[in-house]
Amino acid sequence: MTSAPTDLAAQLDRQDPLAGFRERFVGAGDPLVYFDGNSLGRPLRATGPRLQRFVDEEWGGRLIRGWDEGWMDLPHRIGDDLGRICLGAAAGQTVVGDSTTVLLYKMMRAAVAARPGRTEIVIDRDNFPTDRYVAAGIAEELGLTLRWIEVDTTEGVTAELLAEAVGPATALVVVSHVAYRSAWLADLPELVRITHDAGALILADLCHSAGSVPLALDAWDVDIAVGCSYKYLNGGPGAPAFVYVASRLIDELTQPIRGWIGNDDPFLMGPSYTPAPGIRRFLSGTPPILGMLAVRDMLELLEEASIDAVRDKSVALTQYAIDLTDEVLAPAGAVLASPREADRRGGHVTVNHPAMREVTARLWAQDVIPDYRDPGGLRLGLSPLSTSFGEVERGVEIVRATLDALTA
Ligand SMILES: *Cc1c(COP(=O)(O)O)cnc(C)c1O
Repeated sequence: MTSAPTDLAAQLDRQDPLAGFRERFVGAGDPLVYFDGNSLGRPLRATGPRLQRFVDEEWGGRLIRGWDEGWMDLPHRIGDDLGRICLGAAAGQTVVGDSTTVLLYKMMRAAVAARPGRTEIVIDRDNFPTDRYVAAGIAEELGLTLRWIEVDTTEGVTAELLAEAVGPATALVVVSHVAYRSAWLADLPELVRITHDAGALILADLCHSAGSVPLALDAWDVDIAVGCSYKYLNGGPGAPAFVYVASRLIDELTQPIRGWIGNDDPFLMGPSYTPAPGIRRFLSGTPPILGMLAVRDMLELLEEASIDAVRDKSVALTQYAIDLTDEVLAPAGAVLASPREADRRGGHVTVNHPAMREVTARLWAQDVIPDYRDPGGLRLGLSPLSTSFGEVERGVEIVRATLDALTA
């Protein structure tokens, strides 16, 4: 099963200017094929020692003094680094904390409150479950209406579909920059323009693009963005999420979870809540410091590699996976369910076949780790700095052999 890579895969790896980064990740030398870096990125080798040092020196040595000596600023420092390296966001607009789900709730509430009198939230039917559930809950809570965009699940939200859905009643548009199922890469600047023409605000979910697809949030005039740090940012299981709010909006928005850390002067412990000026107002409670340390290692790596080079490799990897799908999987009845145009495609490729649920279970038992997305979707997530072309080839060949064994 673990045949040597063909000339083409070996050549692609030899020509890959980022190939050397692979060895910086734990486990990258193992024969295991990892197609799930878009659900949980591999840890960096640097992260273990960093965590150990933090426990020994900062937590163990500085104890509570650590809050005054840098921890309190860490959500902002990492937010600013993320903004600079990956998001195209100037400092002071991005902060780390909470989970994506909680931030989605806080920011959707903040956004609809800033458009009083407007009664609709626009979201697509194939958006990630948590985005849809949170939007539906807020609509129920506030008596708003969800206006669903029906999308082709092998694509995603297009400018045409959004233009038909928005209007004078729209308070907020919620859209994933890269669709979790198909990897459809939305034309975010165009979606922003359409939303603003309708007088509404837009919230972009960046879970599947941060660290993989370059963003220009400031230049595109995005209002609000939320994303997680454990997919292409390799922050580890349950690492905290981040939120971006355009500086022109920060002081206009108030979020519903009024905790002491988002208060103007947390240590005054005063009688009532006044939101802090600046991006800190979107935090609620004590920042999860341990959970955000690993992200720093990945941000350093992304800065060294540059997000544009990461995107180039991502496009090459997904193109190679599509070529192999056409050559190796299509003859077995599998169908590509991701965009073929590189500029409409994020960092993964989905391949449909009715047997994929069972195929995925068998693959996991053979140390080939893709994801399964109902109905019938095998998702090949290709994390640019830790995935090699040889790994893609080996994985796809084992998918084919497993499909053959099951459907023989
Ligand atoms: C992964 C993902 C989430 C995850 O939310 P959590 O609160 O971190 O579990 C949310 N939205 C999208 C689009 C995702 O891909």
